[in-house]
Amino acid sequence: MKKDIRSLRYAELKKEMERLGEKPFRARQIYEWLHVRLAESFDEMTDLSLKLRAKLSEEYALLPVILEERQISRLDGTNKFLFRLYDGNMVESVLMRYHHGNSVCISSQAGCRMGCAFCASTIGGLKRSLAPSEMLGQVYQIQKLTKERVSNVVIMGTGEPLDNYENFVQFIRMLTDEHGLHISQRNVTVSTCGIVPNMLRLADEGFQITLALSLHGSTQEKREKLMPVAKKYDLAEVLAACDAYFEKTGRRVTFEYSLVHGVNDRDEDARELAAILKPRNCHLNLIPVNPVRERHFVRPSRENALNFKNKLEKSGINVTIRREMGSDIDGACGQLRRRYAEKETTTDGV
Ligand code: SAH
Repeated sequence: MKKDIRSLRYAELKKEMERLGEKPFRARQIYEWLHVRLAESFDEMTDLSLKLRAKLSEEYALLPVILEERQISRLDGTNKFLFRLYDGNMVESVLMRYHHGNSVCISSQAGCRMGCAFCASTIGGLKRSLAPSEMLGQVYQIQKLTKERVSNVVIMGTGEPLDNYENFVQFIRMLTDEHGLHISQRNVTVSTCGIVPNMLRLADEGFQITLALSLHGSTQEKREKLMPVAKKYDLAEVLAACDAYFEKTGRRVTFEYSLVHGVNDRDEDARELAAILKPRNCHLNLIPVNPVRERHFVRPSRENALNFKNKLEKSGINVTIRREMGSDIDGACGQLRRRYAEKETTTDGV
């Protein structure tokens, strides 16, 4: 298979040009075409000779990220995108407009193998991990389609980024590279279900990105019920890895807690959660669960969610309830991709 040129870092591309006997400044030109001007074919690179363009397409592939469907919320301008990859796999991304800028939520894998009880992305299992270029491609396509600059990126779409570690790290380096879109690392957040060894590796990469941990349960037992991965890495280990991340990077960790009515939104849960978070310099983000058709979880009422939040606030925890965006479109995590997958199966089935 041809090398995926958009997954090469600037220094790597320079080496490649050397190998092909090209002048070093070609690397700068090509990198700019790929990561600033967001070209989708070698033919667009009009300041390269035809001969070089032909050589490039012989040696390298440009993995496509093609728009399949776009939904635009009439409520708040949120956009949902479904993209098709070279092998037919689908991934979904979301654009959210905030006063501080445009934030894009991208997927790191097609499907997921983590099996969290409330999540739609894991229902069909893991299809495959994405290449760095396919993660970048989601951001690039959204910037091209909207003609608006993306200023924040969150890796909270389908997939577990730390289950695709090398590609994920390469993606972060390229996304924030001064030769590319140059998005500030402080404007990037990665969410993990708690793959401890890779959280520790990430703490040593020298990044300034925010780490978000999906907590969802206030004891080992409760966490295990919702998240199978908790059986592999227990709560104490996961919290220690968050502490290590904070110590090494100075970045405050965000804890995510999906509120499920009658499961983890009781007084006792709030008390236990406060005890965990109190000694930590952190932020808590409550996500009233998005009901997924295949699952039977119930979202707490607005009042219940606010009560829960108040209890934590009274204990001195820095807490927000995640604002619901684009609730009139296939809003919840992984549901656009899911609906698409269902359509394909039904058509195949008849
Ligand atoms: N694999 C990463 C990213 C997942 S998506 C992780 O586990 O952190 C980002 C967040 O949304 C996670 O905290 C995830 O647990 C949560 N989430 C997934 N499905 C949800 C749903 N239906 N309702 C509320 N939160 C959900």
